[in-house]
Amino acid sequence: MTTTDFTPTTNTATTTATNSATAIPGPATPYQDDIARYWDQEARPVNLRLGDVDGLYHHHYGIGDVDRAAIAASGDGDREKQVIAELHRLESAQADLLLDHLGHVPRDATLVDAGCGRGGSMIMAHQRFGCRVEGLTLSAKQADFANQRAHRAGIDQSVRARVCNMLDMPFETGQAAASWNNESSMYVDLHDLFAEHSRVLEVGGRYVTITGCWNPVYGQPSKWVSLINAHFECNIHSRREYLRAMADNRLVPQTIIDLTPATLPYWELRATSSLVTGIEEAFLNSYRDGSFQYLLIAADRV
Ligand code: SAH
Repeated sequence: MTTTDFTPTTNTATTTATNSATAIPGPATPYQDDIARYWDQEARPVNLRLGDVDGLYHHHYGIGDVDRAAIAASGDGDREKQVIAELHRLESAQADLLLDHLGHVPRDATLVDAGCGRGGSMIMAHQRFGCRVEGLTLSAKQADFANQRAHRAGIDQSVRARVCNMLDMPFETGQAAASWNNESSMYVDLHDLFAEHSRVLEVGGRYVTITGCWNPVYGQPSKWVSLINAHFECNIHSRREYLRAMADNRLVPQTIIDLTPATLPYWELRATSSLVTGIEEAFLNSYRDGSFQYLLIAADRV
C-alpha cells in the first residue's frame, strides 16, 4: 500500500480511495458511524471560537495556570474575549506538552495523529519538527477542515488529514517515527488500538497519549464518568487498562504524568464563561472526588 502521494481526497464515502490501488478503511462499525456523525455535526462555540484566535482548532482540554491578571485587566466588556484567548492558550499548552514527549523527530520522519479532529495538533507538530504529519479521523467534515487549514498555512504538502479508522491505519509496518492519540482513545478498544500503533511504529519509536481515564483506586467508573461517557458517546477506560494494553502490545511507558491538578484551572475558568456546554460540572466533580484522572503516557515501541 503506497502512502507517498499527497493527492487531496474528497473524504465523503465510508471507504475512500486515494488511488485505484489504495483503499482507506473508514468507519467499520455502526458505532463508528455514530461517532463520524457526531463529529460531522459538532460545531460548539467552545471549539470554534477558541480556534478562531489563531487558526489552531483543538478538540481537547487545557492545562496550566490561568493568567488571572490578564483577565482582570481586560475590563468587563472584553472579559469574554480574554477568557476565550486564555482557554485557547491552555489548550495549545496541552498539545505542546504532548509534542514535548515525542522525543527527537527528524525532518524526514512521518508522524501519525490518530483521531486528529480539526488538525490543530498536526499543524503544531509540523511547525515544530518540519516533518510530515498524517492525521486520521472518522469525520469527513473534520478532515476537510484540517486540510483547508493546512492549505491556508501553505503546508498541505506535509500535513494531511484523511477519513480513516485508526484501528486499520493506511501505513506500512514500521513507517511512523512517532504517533499519538490526543483525547481520542476513549472511542476504541485499547488492545486493538495499541496493536495498530505498535504495527505502524518503528522499533524505538514513541507513542504518546493524553486522555481522561477512570481511576482504579476509586473502584469503578463514578456517576460523573458515566455522564461524560453519555455526553460524548464514548467509553472512558481505566488507568489500569491503558497500562495493561500497552504492556501487551510492545509499548513500554517511559513517562506517566498525572495532569489532573494542571487541568483543573482550565475547567474552573471554562465553567465561568458563556461557552459552557453543560458537562463542566461532571469534569470538575470527578477530578475532585478522585474518580477521574487526566493522564499523559509516553511509551517506547520496543
Ligand atoms: N485529537 C484531536 C481531536 C480529539 S476529538 C484534538 O486534540 O483536537 C476525537 C477524535 O477522535 C475525532 O476526530 C474522531 O473522529 C476521532 N476518532 C474516534 N474514533 C476514531 C477511529 N476509530 N478512527 C479514527 N478517528 C477516530
